[in-house]
Amino acid sequence: MRRQRDTKICSWAIARLMPLNPADAFKVLADYPRPDGLSVTDLMDSRIHGGLTYNDFLLLPGKIDFTAANVVTESRITRNVVLKTPFMSSPMDTVTEDSMAIAMALLGGIGVIHHNQTAENQAAMVRAVKRHENGFITDPVVLSPAHTVADVLDIKLRLGFCGIPITETGKLGAKLVGIVTSRDVQFRDSATPLADVMTRQLVTAQQGITLIEANDILRDSKKGKLPLIDGQGNLVSLLARSDLLKNQSYPLASKNPQTKQLYAAAAIGTRPNDRERLGLLVEAGLDIVVIDSSQGNSDFQIEMIKWIKSTYPKLEVIAGNVVTREQTASLIAAGADGIRVGMGSGSICITQEVMAVGRPQATAVYAVAEFASRFGVPVIADGGISNIGHIVKALALGASAVMMGGLLAGTEEAPGEYFYHEGKRVKTYRGMGSLEAMETGKAAGKPKTSTIENAATSRYFSESSTVKVAQGVSGDVQDKGSVRSFLPYLYVGVQHSLQDIGVRSISELRDGVAAGKVRFELRTASAQVEGGVNGLNSYKKRLFAAT
Ligand code: NAD
Ligand code: IMP
Repeated sequence: MRRQRDTKICSWAIARLMPLNPADAFKVLADYPRPDGLSVTDLMDSRIHGGLTYNDFLLLPGKIDFTAANVVTESRITRNVVLKTPFMSSPMDTVTEDSMAIAMALLGGIGVIHHNQTAENQAAMVRAVKRHENGFITDPVVLSPAHTVADVLDIKLRLGFCGIPITETGKLGAKLVGIVTSRDVQFRDSATPLADVMTRQLVTAQQGITLIEANDILRDSKKGKLPLIDGQGNLVSLLARSDLLKNQSYPLASKNPQTKQLYAAAAIGTRPNDRERLGLLVEAGLDIVVIDSSQGNSDFQIEMIKWIKSTYPKLEVIAGNVVTREQTASLIAAGADGIRVGMGSGSICITQEVMAVGRPQATAVYAVAEFASRFGVPVIADGGISNIGHIVKALALGASAVMMGGLLAGTEEAPGEYFYHEGKRVKTYRGMGSLEAMETGKAAGKPKTSTIENAATSRYFSESSTVKVAQGVSGDVQDKGSVRSFLPYLYVGVQHSLQDIGVRSISELRDGVAAGKVRFELRTASAQVEGGVNGLNSYKKRLFAAT
């Protein structure tokens, strides 16, 4: 060994006097005993003082011989569901309701609808995702012939439009009998029934028509609205000319290949009444259920997984949360199709502080993913993702997708209104184990009566204990604009990062890490300072610009 080192030192000394032939660069490189940096196992073994977080390491760059736009981010998030981007939004009442879930799915990810609301509300949100067709209004405002001109004027005042389809009952799904537009109600007495003013000669299209075909009909007919009907003449949706102009196309959309509908995911707990809740969600078309718990290795969850797999064999089950191989083994043995990893790493989380349990997230993701991969079960890195670098690091450690709460909570599609805090436009973001979420005990969504208790109520108020122990905080996050701009930023950012690493896809990244070809480096505390912006008097941090 010593002799080998002496020979090396000697050859370096000679090389300094007599430089080597540049044409031999790769030969000389191959003579080194091992490649630069650390393999993933060396990286993990190097944690002498404890577990690693995403900030504790970096990936080394590889070779770029392809464009970033060609990088494929497709990934399997459960045994049977593949998405075109590895992005998921958290089942939290300040993150994912129907508009977030629809936007996430259109953009290639998936949003998990929270369960801190009545089962009926949650099922209605699942239904909204399943029924969503880009460009078509699947829940249009509808009136009946008995409504009056005053009703139309009121809608115009409140909602800003007055092209309204008229059905026999005034409800979607009933026989379409007319349409009213602003011209029909102009100069009419407000008490006039719509039966007297509505247009009865209708231009309609059959359900199932494509946007392009519908666009052609609207153009040729010169109408502002196109009602879509089923075989019996019942109204099923509406297309507005004004919306057509705004329609984007969504080539990455997460769709069930059989039904072509968007994928819908929702969370439930492990209480007995969650079985009833799941029944409603499945009826609404649910594809993936996430069993939501901070400590997934419980008899409650194991029983729940077994029950779901035997009752709804086609439903994909993501179980969790876990951070160890032992916990993971329980959930995989019970039948989980995907595993959610993370305990105490969330941005609103005080679990590690209060419960003294958890694990630094990079170590947790690697330990669980390495084990789960042996069974073909994908792993989702949940919590602690605050930038694109964290996403790529989670994927490099074996995660198939990342789940984000705080990063998405400030977007327009997250529930809740913006407000100003210390001069900044913000939205509320809170942990599901915060006292605020527990006490609210119901959704930020539409109130409704229900026989099935919501998550917070069943979890905390039916217990004999009189003290509620918080595991999360409530705060606010800055406005991030629409998820329709923010997610493409994450997507393109991941593509550029993988290009720097020299891999063309997430699966190539994973294979490269396993083969020891993709290399890592630990970051000391001073390396972390060096890697951040430093030494400036002041600066602006603008993250992206959409072209
Ligand atoms: P939980 O429902 O898993 O557990 C709450 C309590 O209810 C526990 O004491 C549990 O043992 C008990 N319980 C569960 N099912 C039961 C049953 N059938 N019968 C009797 N008791 C039962 O919820 P949680 O772990 O407190 O998490 C609450 C929310 O906060 C979730 O949304 C979770 O994702 C989030 N959270 C996440 C983390 C994290 O680090 N990922 C940490 C804390 C909280
Ligand atoms: P973030 O992306 O870092 O903000 O973390 C979001 C994740 O935190 C969620 O997906 C949950 O796993 C977790 N979480 C949600 N509520 C709480 C809580 O009250 N305490 C701890 N963790 C939570």
